Amino acid sequence: MPLAPAARPWHHPRMSAAPLHLTIDGHAIEAAPGASLIQAWIGAGLPLETNVGCMGQGVCGACRVLVRRPGERIAQSLLACETRAEDGMQVAFVDHFPARRAHAYDLSAMADSWAALDSLDAVFPEAKHCRHCGGCDAACPKGIEVEKAVNLAVEGKALEAGALFEHCVMCNLCVAACPEHIAPAHLGQFARRMTASLTLRPGDLVLRLREIAQGRQRIDLDACQPAEPPR
Ligand code: SF4
Ligand code: SF4
Repeated sequence: MPLAPAARPWHHPRMSAAPLHLTIDGHAIEAAPGASLIQAWIGAGLPLETNVGCMGQGVCGACRVLVRRPGERIAQSLLACETRAEDGMQVAFVDHFPARRAHAYDLSAMADSWAALDSLDAVFPEAKHCRHCGGCDAACPKGIEVEKAVNLAVEGKALEAGALFEHCVMCNLCVAACPEHIAPAHLGQFARRMTASLTLRPGDLVLRLREIAQGRQRIDLDACQPAEPPR
């Protein structure tokens, strides 16, 4: 549902600066200078029904867009919440692109870090077919060295590979770009999960769980219930 004008200060009807003119999904839009593409879309009164999750925090990866600027031959894949509107831009939202197959795994069964390379190969056998085309790097709106990370994982360097994916927002643009159907983002997520599962847990968390197990930290399951009204 479109936001009320009062809730969209970036689109004041008496914009002080000259408005920008751009096209988003075929709609000719006027946007206030400084507005993000998401703000420009909402400000134009268009319904925001898909391609949105965190509403501009840059963490959910849902607002994938292809952007072509005037004079540029190649479109760039970006996140609409992190990209400012510019005059003459042509923008198209990109639908969610799931991996070709689900990668099922049981982290609790992976207890031996010496077998990390075998686990990676078993869950992501496609990864070793990387053809070093750089498509994933070009697609990533977060500037992640995806190709390098995939190949680190293939070498069994799960820790290093996972670290490179630290700022991944699971937009799946690298999944769409990969001609070998490696699903790089999911490989990165797996590397991070496996690393965490095989690493010593943080000391304060261990202590807290022990306190709970010993009954020294009471968990009040009714804590979120409304309190009894005073008599
Ligand atoms: S690594 Fe892939 S899923 Fe993660 S932000 Fe980059 S393109 Fe998106
Ligand atoms: S897009 Fe796929 S094949 Fe190409 S470099 Fe990235 S992971 Fe390798």
